[in-house]
Amino acid sequence: MTLASSSPSASNAHKKSKGLRRGAVRPAKELCSDCGLCDTSYIHYVKEACAFINQQVPELEAQSHGRSRDLENENDVYFGVHQQMMAARKTEPIEGAQWTGIVSSIAIEMLNQGLVEGVVCVQNTKEDRFQPMPVIAKTPEEILAARVNKPTLSPNLSILDQLEQSGMKRVLAIGVGCQIQALRAVQHELGLEKLYVLGTPCVDNVSRTGLQKFLDTTSRSPETVVHYEFMQDFRVHFKHEDGSIEKVPFFGLKTNKLKDVFAPSCMSCFDYVNSLADLVVGYMGAPFGWQWVVVRNDTGQEMLDLVNDQLATQPVMSQGDRKQAVQNSIPAYDKGVTLPMWAAKLMGVVIEKVGPKGLEYARFSIDSHFTRNYLYVKRNHPEKLEDHVPDYAKKIVDQYTLPE
Ligand code: FAD
Ligand code: SF4
Repeated sequence: MTLASSSPSASNAHKKSKGLRRGAVRPAKELCSDCGLCDTSYIHYVKEACAFINQQVPELEAQSHGRSRDLENENDVYFGVHQQMMAARKTEPIEGAQWTGIVSSIAIEMLNQGLVEGVVCVQNTKEDRFQPMPVIAKTPEEILAARVNKPTLSPNLSILDQLEQSGMKRVLAIGVGCQIQALRAVQHELGLEKLYVLGTPCVDNVSRTGLQKFLDTTSRSPETVVHYEFMQDFRVHFKHEDGSIEKVPFFGLKTNKLKDVFAPSCMSCFDYVNSLADLVVGYMGAPFGWQWVVVRNDTGQEMLDLVNDQLATQPVMSQGDRKQAVQNSIPAYDKGVTLPMWAAKLMGVVIEKVGPKGLEYARFSIDSHFTRNYLYVKRNHPEKLEDHVPDYAKKIVDQYTLPE
């Protein structure tokens, strides 16, 4: 790697270094989430830009939204800077989308209405529905071909050099937190007039090999899984090729076998809610069957307004108390406890009836992952703990008693 060798090009004044070949060790080493930046000449900026080398969420929040999280406001601490949140779903869902297709619909409208010339998104390869293939989509068909999650680490930013060469000036980027953090850090080097950022939350991602292990250990028919999601009813829902849905309770997952499945980057991530996107579309803060929409700034509102007439909406709600469930889950996960399937199913049914819902479910999921990840960083990268964990995450973790 030649980080020092910089050579401003004629077309764009950004400083360049030679991108790394696929498979080469990245600067963040095992913590690399393969966001794609280091495949490109923008690797020059990796020391400042990489989410795992230089955590700078508050600074980039201020740059993107005009302010950073208010640590005295609980919703800010959990969900990041926002103007409004809501539950929404498309009145006519897009067939084959991850949920109802709000993300794809916004991207298509932005292209159709001429707000952008291209959309950074991720399709899959012909051979493998789960192998990510980042593209700059220029037609609605190309955006639709990127619908549905590729539940694997995806080098979305690997198209940055191609973007520069394309000469596009107005672009929408769709991505998860680590990709967006690096993108925001180099945003001003891209030579764009306007960058729109549409994010999804993201957690527990895996390499392609890790995904296979997860499917093989958890699903009754790994080869026919089309997509899956960790749902608000405390079950993993696998959708199969024939349209059938297989449900496996969280509490029945073989945690002892799955402990090392999740990528080290995702075990060290504290940006579950994609703090730096203009608009975030997920599901975890919404009632079952609905998507959860977080508008972070005026640009995000402008994007959402484009699809208002395609959406049914309702206010966000919050119900239950997550704290005891989170506290109980910490040592259980740590020891790799797996319940027998009958007990796991029973627990799933009970917790679905009395457990946290809406925003409280989102807090449950954030608390469980942040406590787990805090322990992971503390044990595996103690020298990073202080700088890498943002203050909002420390505040969340401090609510719980953690094992050594
Ligand atoms: P679609 O219209 O189907 O569009 C999906 C978009 O996602 C596409 O534009 C595609 O470019 C992009 N995409 C697909 N795979 C990737 C990838 N690997 N990296 C970057 N971009 C990708 N939401 C929650 O509320 N809680 C969670 O815990 C959660 N975990 C997630 C984990 C992963 C790995 C991903 C990719 C998403 C996760 N989400 C989570 C978001 C959620 O699953 C949906 O993606 C979101 O609600 C949008 O649904 P949709 O039907 O509108 O998207
Ligand atoms: Fe490079 Fe991205 Fe990996 Fe960091 S996470 S080392 S920026 S590819």
